[in-house]
Amino acid sequence: MGSCLKGKSEAKKHPGAYLCDKCGAVSDKKKHVCDPSKLKKKDLEKGKKKKK
Ligand SMILES: [Zn+2]
Repeated sequence: MGSCLKGKSEAKKHPGAYLCDKCGAVSDKKKHVCDPSKLKKKDLEKGKKKKK
């Protein structure tokens, strides 16, 4: 814990990347975000900004 990017994405959104549900940062590494959800191709096609 304690290793989130805090909103600063270090990768572009792409299938297989991890998006932090808390702060919205994107990383290729799961450990780099605090609440990771893996992006799927489907997620990216639906709209750039996904809101819960
Ligand atoms: Zn986060």
